[in-house]
Amino acid sequence: MKVLVINAGSSSLKYQLYDMRDESVLASGRVERIGMDSSIVTHEPADKQEVRVVSEILDHVTAVKRVTDMLTHKEHGVLASMNEIDAVGHRIVHGGEVFKGSVLVTSEVKLEIRRLFDLAPLHNPAHMMGITAVETNMPNVPQVVVFDTAFHQTMPKTSYLYPIPTVLYRRHKIRRYGFHGTSHSYVSDKAARFLKKPLESLKMVTCHIGNGASCAAILDGKSFDTSMGMTPLEGLMMGTRSGDIDPAIVPFVMNKEELTLNEANSMLNKHSGMLAISGISSDMREVTEAMNEGDKNAKLAFDMYVYRVKKYIGAYAAAMNGIDTLVFTAGVGENSSDLRKAVCEGITFLGIELDEELNAKRSKEAREISTPNSRIKVLVVPTNEELLIARDTYKIVQG
Ligand code: AMP
Repeated sequence: MKVLVINAGSSSLKYQLYDMRDESVLASGRVERIGMDSSIVTHEPADKQEVRVVSEILDHVTAVKRVTDMLTHKEHGVLASMNEIDAVGHRIVHGGEVFKGSVLVTSEVKLEIRRLFDLAPLHNPAHMMGITAVETNMPNVPQVVVFDTAFHQTMPKTSYLYPIPTVLYRRHKIRRYGFHGTSHSYVSDKAARFLKKPLESLKMVTCHIGNGASCAAILDGKSFDTSMGMTPLEGLMMGTRSGDIDPAIVPFVMNKEELTLNEANSMLNKHSGMLAISGISSDMREVTEAMNEGDKNAKLAFDMYVYRVKKYIGAYAAAMNGIDTLVFTAGVGENSSDLRKAVCEGITFLGIELDEELNAKRSKEAREISTPNSRIKVLVVPTNEELLIARDTYKIVQG
């Protein structure tokens, strides 16, 4: 069975084609600048040269057509015909309270996703365009939707409610949803397999630290709490996002600086975090480099970033009455030994002992970086959200 995984954004569309017999990636790629002039398709077939084609792609229907043309191309293709694609899996950012797991796309499911446009106005409409485009190009192929929020639907009320008037929850569904669920789910499962223990037996904190960042507390094999909330702005300090701040700052600054709603949103989402404090970059590599060259603001940004990760790990250890596994994943978590060292050094009282040599090594495989004596197992687990989407799609379509 071959599964095409699609992540549709408003002006981009990423794809990966899996052969589910061995879960190998046959090809991957992306379409960029949809609806603008000079759209770009970058196609990477396994074992063949990458191809880049610049042309005009005005909408998602054409984008999906170009993807299938590439996949079946005489020279660059990996399929004899489009009929070889058995199912399509989509990443959907927001599943609200309705979707607690992945589901087959039906007209009711599409209606529910539309109802959730309000909660994810930048993402869900774009995902919907992806679903419609696949329907147009491959009308008989089953589609499955996999939600970033679904894994966190197991959070108890104490974790997901905000202490604000409950009418706001009833009327507008204002509550904490959490994001990166596909990644937290994938790495927690992988970590348990790596340790050869049932996931249900572990008290785990997973740290998905990339451009966006979130921690999750995994108890009894389920998400018990997570640092992102109603939107992906809450929680850890991120590349350009503030994470937790006093909410009273928002009206105060709007008043003092005469900001519009959009400007206030943009300040917190695009001009805060590591970028604001370092004054250099939102990219961890550049901030670390500047710090190592003696830049004081870069060091402050790095220290604040680390401090906030430590605080969440400590909070979740308290929330679960203990922790026995700590997992790092995503761009920073997988690649920055400096970040992992700084986080672990500051919480040795929990029983963490980092093996510095193992921490400094690089690998694409899941691995342990704590010493045999460490009470808490510290792991680095490369995330693979696309593979989890492909697996869910395969399972659902197989029935
Ligand atoms: P992601 O959003 O998961 O793709 O992660 C992107 C982030 O990972 C950026 O801040 C990158 O600077 C960071 N990153 C990638 N490689 C490294 C590395 N070798 N060292 C430190 N940070 C890295």
